[in-house]
Amino acid sequence: MSGAGTHLCYSLREMAKRREKQTDKNPAVALKRATDRQAGVARGGGVDRGASPARVKAILKKLDEAYPAATCALKHENAFQLLIATILSAQCTDVRVNEVTVKLFPKYPSCKAFAYAHPAEIENDIRSTGFFRNKAKSIIGTSKKILEEYHGEVPKTMEQLLTLPGVARKTANVVLGTAFGIADGVVVDTHVQRLAERLDLSKNSDPKKVEQDLMQVIPHEKWILFSHQMIWHGRRICQARKPRCIECNLEPLCYSKDKTI
Ligand code: SF4
Repeated sequence: MSGAGTHLCYSLREMAKRREKQTDKNPAVALKRATDRQAGVARGGGVDRGASPARVKAILKKLDEAYPAATCALKHENAFQLLIATILSAQCTDVRVNEVTVKLFPKYPSCKAFAYAHPAEIENDIRSTGFFRNKAKSIIGTSKKILEEYHGEVPKTMEQLLTLPGVARKTANVVLGTAFGIADGVVVDTHVQRLAERLDLSKNSDPKKVEQDLMQVIPHEKWILFSHQMIWHGRRICQARKPRCIECNLEPLCYSKDKTI
C-alpha cells in the first residue's frame, strides 16, 4: 500500500475511534448498549443472535413484563364453544368472531344443536367471518364427530382433535392450551409466525416447522402463555405492515429488517 493509502486508512481508523468514544459518552446510547450486552446481544457483531438460551430468556422476560396476563381473546364459556370460535377465526379477526358468536352460541346452545343444524342457515349465521361455506362444513362435521365418537365431549388429546374436520394443529393447540391447560405444542398463527421470524426464533415459514422450532427453544412450561403473549404483541405493537418499534420493549433485542427505527 502506498504511503498516502496508509495515511488515509490511519485517519479513518482515528475518526472511527473518536466517533465511538463520543457515542459512548452519550448516556442514552451507553445505557442501551449495556442493556444489549446484558441480554447477550451484540448487534452487528454477530454475537448471540438467534435463539440462544440467554436471548430467549431475555425475550420471555420482556414479554412477561409487557403481557403478564395475556390470554385468548375469543369469547367462550366452554371447550366446545372455544373450538367453534377458533374454527371461525381462520382468516378473520377475533373481534369479528366475537360479534358473530355472541348471537351464534345462544342460537345453537349445544354440540347437538350444531350437529343437526341446517348448513345453509349456519352459513348465513357465520357469513361475515369469511370462508363461510367451508367453516359451516367444518363446524357441522366436527360437531357430529364429537357427538358420535366422543360422547359429546371435546377430546383432550392432539391426536384425537386432529381427527375432527377443519381442525389442524393451531386450532388443537388453542383448545388444549386455553380450555384444558394442556401444553402439547405452541399456537402458531399469523402473528406468532411473523414474530418468530422477526425475533429470529425461527428461520422457517411453514407453521408446522415454526412450531417445532419454538418447541425446541421455549421452555415447555411457557408454551401456552408464550403463544398468547406473541399474539398480543403482534396485534398491538409488532404489526405486519408497520411495526410500532418505538413503543416496543423488545426493541433492544430485535434486529429484524422490518424495524421502523
Ligand atoms: S422492534 Fe419492531 S420489529 Fe422488532 S419486535 Fe419490536 S415491533 Fe417488532
